[in-house]
Amino acid sequence: MLDTRLVPTPDLYLLDALLTDAERAVRDRVRNFSEQHVLPVINAYWERAEFPFALLPALAATGITGGTLTGYGAPALSHIAAGLVSMELARGDGSMSTLHAVQTGLAINSIATLGSPEQQQHWLPDLVQLNTIGAFALTEPDHGSDAVMLETRATRDGQAYVLNGAKRWVGAAHFADLTIVWARDDDGNVGGFVVEKGTPGFDAQPITGKIAGRALSQAHIILRDVRVPREHRLAASHSFKDTSRVLTSARVGIAWEALGHALACYEAAVAYVQQRTQFGKTLAHYQLIQVKLAKMLAEITSMQLLCLRLSQLAAADQLTPAMASLAKMNNAAKARWIAAEARDMLGGNGVLLEYHVARHFADIEGLYSYEGTDTIQALIVGREITGVQAFAQRA
Ligand SMILES: Cc1cc2nc3c(=O)[nH]c(=O)nc-3n(C[C@H](O)[C@H](O)[C@H](O)COP(=O)(O)OP(=O)(O)OC[C@H]3O[C@@H](n4cnc5c(N)ncnc54)[C@H](O)[C@@H]3O)c2cc1C
Repeated sequence: MLDTRLVPTPDLYLLDALLTDAERAVRDRVRNFSEQHVLPVINAYWERAEFPFALLPALAATGITGGTLTGYGAPALSHIAAGLVSMELARGDGSMSTLHAVQTGLAINSIATLGSPEQQQHWLPDLVQLNTIGAFALTEPDHGSDAVMLETRATRDGQAYVLNGAKRWVGAAHFADLTIVWARDDDGNVGGFVVEKGTPGFDAQPITGKIAGRALSQAHIILRDVRVPREHRLAASHSFKDTSRVLTSARVGIAWEALGHALACYEAAVAYVQQRTQFGKTLAHYQLIQVKLAKMLAEITSMQLLCLRLSQLAAADQLTPAMASLAKMNNAAKARWIAAEARDMLGGNGVLLEYHVARHFADIEGLYSYEGTDTIQALIVGREITGVQAFAQRA
């Protein structure tokens, strides 16, 4: 068994010194949660494609749900601390970090950004305590990258909206207590509608046979005449631009998550080459191995710098879609490369769950696609560079 705790977390540019004590403390708390609670059990859950509900109380006890949100019992973390949380969760396991990304980055963030004070008071306290789980249903079977063209309808009927359509790839929706369904109203405007568990006509089935993030399933949802009270439309959700605001800030967390996966793979590779002997010496003695490690560290250091600056910009309210997309694009691609290098450096053991790299290697494939694929992030950056929108015909 590989003990990566012997490998110091890479910090070549002394970035740890830029963190506050509070930021280091929350990072260490989440790291302990992963090491003590997640890592000993996660491979078995991953292999069975089963969510580890038993870990939820310990996750709740870390007090991180809600991230930067203030009030409602939320931790009001600094933006950098919130990023470190995403990083450490992913460093442990991609399914746990994805659950947090959905709960905090998408569900809580949607209600906090677009909900009325009454809606926030109604739903946020339980979401922040992890007493209730939230899901975010944007993607449809026929609309992924072009989610702006979503077809799910929200038809007004007296004091209610009636939802009809289908959603796909919705994390945790088959067990979530509430799902924010993005749908088009009678005027063609996109809004977020909160559908509570057990609402008739809402059918969410887990998608099976998935190779990434297996411990957290995504659901395929059919909505047939799902009736929600008028008050369940998020008050400030009037167009897809509002949905995009939530996605932009959530992508910051995904960039940090990618860094977490990369750290886990790099640390496993460093530990492995110091323990594994071939041709009479440990692998660490070979020049080609050192070159690989140096290139991995260069990428990790650049990812750390991007993440830190991105969170500073978010804290200063200067975050733009292009900034978030550039970091998501860069970090997901680099994490994917680092995982592939680490997997190779572990030889046959690199494809065994026991050594953890295989799980990260697979999980990054989900992260590479979700919250906008590599191509879509590039097109958002390309729009910033050229002023020409090469996708999304209408908003
Ligand atoms: C593990 C996982 C978790 C997810 N969780 C959620 C969730 O909780 N909620 C939710 O709503 N959704 C979720 N998603 C959906 C995710 O956001 C979509 O999968 C993603 O946006 C891509 O959409 P798609 O799968 O339909 O691919 P498509 O949009 O069909 O893309 C297929 C390929 O075509 C490329 N492409 C698309 N448009 C263009 C273009 N204009 N130019 C060039 N290339 C293009 C893409 O980059 C991609 O390579 C999740 C997905 C995964 C895999």
